[in-house]
Amino acid sequence: SPAPAVVTVTGAAGSIGYASVFRIAAGEMLGPDQPVALRLLELPQAIPAAVGTAMELDDGAFGLLKSVEVLDDPRKAFDGANFGLLIGARPRTKGMERADLLAANSSIFASQGEVINEVAADDIRVIVVGNPANTNAAVAAAHAPDVPAERFTALTRLDHNRAVAQLAHRANVDVGEISRVTIWGNHSATQYPDIFHARVGRRSGAEYAADREWLVDDFIPTVAKRGTAILEARGASSAASAANATIDHVRDWVLGTPTDEWTSAALSSTGAYGIPEGLVSSFPVRSVDGRWEIVEGLEINEFSRARIDASVAELQAERDAAFNR
Ligand code: NDP
Repeated sequence: SPAPAVVTVTGAAGSIGYASVFRIAAGEMLGPDQPVALRLLELPQAIPAAVGTAMELDDGAFGLLKSVEVLDDPRKAFDGANFGLLIGARPRTKGMERADLLAANSSIFASQGEVINEVAADDIRVIVVGNPANTNAAVAAAHAPDVPAERFTALTRLDHNRAVAQLAHRANVDVGEISRVTIWGNHSATQYPDIFHARVGRRSGAEYAADREWLVDDFIPTVAKRGTAILEARGASSAASAANATIDHVRDWVLGTPTDEWTSAALSSTGAYGIPEGLVSSFPVRSVDGRWEIVEGLEINEFSRARIDASVAELQAERDAAFNR
């Protein structure tokens, strides 16, 4: 069998990390033939909890799991890493301004970018989950000049999956009948879930989008505010669905997206769709030969354009705040 893939998970003792690592060990992320070596990176105060998680991983007796290490030193955790799941981030605490949150996180992600640049494997692929995910990914990429910027991505797959599920409910079809949904922009309340190009069984998403009242007052806000709704219902933030989406993102990146379909991921913009180069924005993407490609040439109507532009403006403001701290 192939050499183990080194997978570094930051914030591994947190709720999303905890919901991710068992599925990675079970082969759901990299496939049933790929052994994995897990590195759990945590802050010193969370090391005991991460050790407990490592004990449970042992107790899973996963055939593919070749080793588990618990580390508080990023340099050791990313040494030779093939995949970086950057889940740990500074949470917004009471009374904290958005600018303070951006500053705290941009210093975490700047130093992780530097370390990845120095010690990770040449084929390192990064997904940022910790918020503000898009901007954190842009900061990490900027501090890793030897790693192609396209290898620093951010998670919008959860938003994508939420949009697919909501559209399936509306159309009363199985989720498997839905394809070509797109999340544009930032992983935040300004994100724009676009169904104009979607396929809904034999119908077109545009037919559903024609019901503007449903689109504007129901679908878009339900997708964008789903995290808050779950937090209110569970009394805890969405963790298993975020972990599931993270695994979907990496699995598709490595193993490819189905022909003729696409998914959503936040990538460094190439300038496509007029989105300024270097902003990490969500796009319609395909994974071909282990690389994400932006699906180009989609017609963007006025309704969509205004919403994409609003989310991109927010990304620009976040980037300015993060880089000019
Ligand atoms: P979670 O595991 O619930 O969340 C981790 C991050 O993911 C947060 O930034 C959170 O953003 C973000 N996130 C992105 N999408 C979602 C989503 N759909 N639902 C919920 N969260 C989402 O946080 P915990 O507090 O349980 O765990 C974080 C862990 O990270 C802690 O154990 C901490 O010690 C560690 N940490 C590690 C660092 C490191 O390794 N260097 C640095 C900082 C923290 P949001 O806050 O906006 O919900």
